[in-house]
Amino acid sequence: MSYLGFFGRHCVGHRRILGNPTWRRLLCTTRQATTAAAELKSTFQSILGEDNVSSALAVREQHGRDESYHKCHPADLVVFPSNTEEVSEIAKVCYKNGIPMVPYGTGTGLEGGIVAVKGGVCIDLGKMDKILEVNEEDFDATIEPGVSREHLNAFVRDTGLWFPIDPGANASICGMCATSASGTNAVRYGTMRENVRNLEVVLSDGTIFDTAGKGRRTRKTSAGYNLTNLFTGSEGTLGIITKATIKLHGIPEATVSGVCSFPDVRSAVDTSIEMLQAGIPVGKMEFLDDVQVDACNRFSGLDYPVQPALFLEFVGSESSVEEQAVIAGEIISGNGGSDFQWAKEAEQRNKLWKARHNAWYACLALRPGCKGVSTDACVPISRLTEIIVATKEDIIASNLTAPIVGHVGDGNFHCFIVIDDTKEEEIQQAKDFTMRLGRRALSVGGTCTGEHGIGNGKLKLLVEEIGPAGIEVMKNIKRTLDPKNLMNPGKVLYM
Ligand SMILES: Cc1cc2nc3c(=O)[nH]c(=O)nc-3n(C[C@H](O)[C@H](O)[C@H](O)COP(=O)(O)OP(=O)(O)OC[C@H]3O[C@@H](n4cnc5c(N)ncnc54)[C@H](O)[C@@H]3O)c2cc1C
Repeated sequence: MSYLGFFGRHCVGHRRILGNPTWRRLLCTTRQATTAAAELKSTFQSILGEDNVSSALAVREQHGRDESYHKCHPADLVVFPSNTEEVSEIAKVCYKNGIPMVPYGTGTGLEGGIVAVKGGVCIDLGKMDKILEVNEEDFDATIEPGVSREHLNAFVRDTGLWFPIDPGANASICGMCATSASGTNAVRYGTMRENVRNLEVVLSDGTIFDTAGKGRRTRKTSAGYNLTNLFTGSEGTLGIITKATIKLHGIPEATVSGVCSFPDVRSAVDTSIEMLQAGIPVGKMEFLDDVQVDACNRFSGLDYPVQPALFLEFVGSESSVEEQAVIAGEIISGNGGSDFQWAKEAEQRNKLWKARHNAWYACLALRPGCKGVSTDACVPISRLTEIIVATKEDIIASNLTAPIVGHVGDGNFHCFIVIDDTKEEEIQQAKDFTMRLGRRALSVGGTCTGEHGIGNGKLKLLVEEIGPAGIEVMKNIKRTLDPKNLMNPGKVLYM
């Protein structure tokens, strides 16, 4: 359908658009609507150039859903700015006309964060893909929002440095800031929150500012409120991140990976906790239940025993890696685990971790044509065993296809529930399970989301997690920074 036809359809029938007073004013008749839409499109084209504004349905739909089961809601226009000033100009037009804005990184999110539930303009930041600075002596880099983590790592490879935060998908680094992503390396290097030094942000009215002050990139600061961390994890609801200064780390001298299998879930998870208690500075520590191991074997051509397993990586100097592996081996055998199947060469290690990173797709392949719902509970590690055991029992009792995989070193684990999203009862069953698991995590001092964010699906759990007073503080922050509620509306908070 053409852009004008699309607006016409909204004019006669779409409450989402008509519910917004500014849009209602703009769209009161089909003729006025098409004129307003055409004017808006041409305004954006005059800022960005003709080719950088799209109303094509295919482009809007491609930007209207992420990798999750959340239904596609396309924005009304997709725009492709090339620099911060253009982002600011887009925001000014949207602010003046009351048009919602949805920032878009690479669309790999798992919580429906880019779904344009209230329409408006999707701002695809992919064309802003310059690596602006790499300061080797200071271990930092400044990048534009279209730079992905693999792009940056390829760029800095020869410096002996790397950016270790690794959500598996080749996400944009600013998208990772927006969701406070982490992944398999967080047990050693922390999450995005610990790895961002400064952010350049465009607010909904077009104001451009730097969360730590322009050009600042110190290892630590006590200067005022921590605005960098406020925007890290804000999921596009407070502003558009147009630049990030992030920490780099030295590539370790030696790296060894291995897999060991366990008779049951409890012994595998207990082992991971004991290894942390023993102070082993593991590089990666990933739990897979028997169903997930089976799925990965099939998908990635592996042949690990179909039992709960730990995928581990030890990093450091040659001697420290050896020492870590010996202590870990003792803990593993004390819990009834198998000997390690080592992956010492880079090629074997890459195969192992590629299989782990493809766990999501391995699960989807269990039911071809289906979609995935990922849970993301995170608990204090002392409570990890009991919650994973209870969750496994729940999965069996509910008869769900839901392999478990976990960044257990951080107390964080996912159930990848595979559903036929054309069946309402399967969607509902997955939602009910997610609520039960979220509440189970909250009841032991945990959070409903360790790394994926609240997005479109966990608003209710956030209210239960934070409580009314904390939610009101969050709403006040949102009202101050985004008084017209235009930044990714409908996400994170009920507003
Ligand atoms: C196979 C697979 C495995 C994954 N594993 C992990 C994992 O282990 N750990 C983990 O943390 N995540 C994981 N993810 C989820 C995903 O990769 C992360 O959430 C990632 O941070 C999303 O980045 P993106 O650029 O794709 O963001 P998008 O999906 O484009 O957007 C996500 C959210 O951030 C906002 N946003 C994006 N860019 C900006 C910006 N520049 N300014 C302001 N807001 C912005 C969007 O509006 C949206 O709300 C996985 C995803 C897949 C598909």
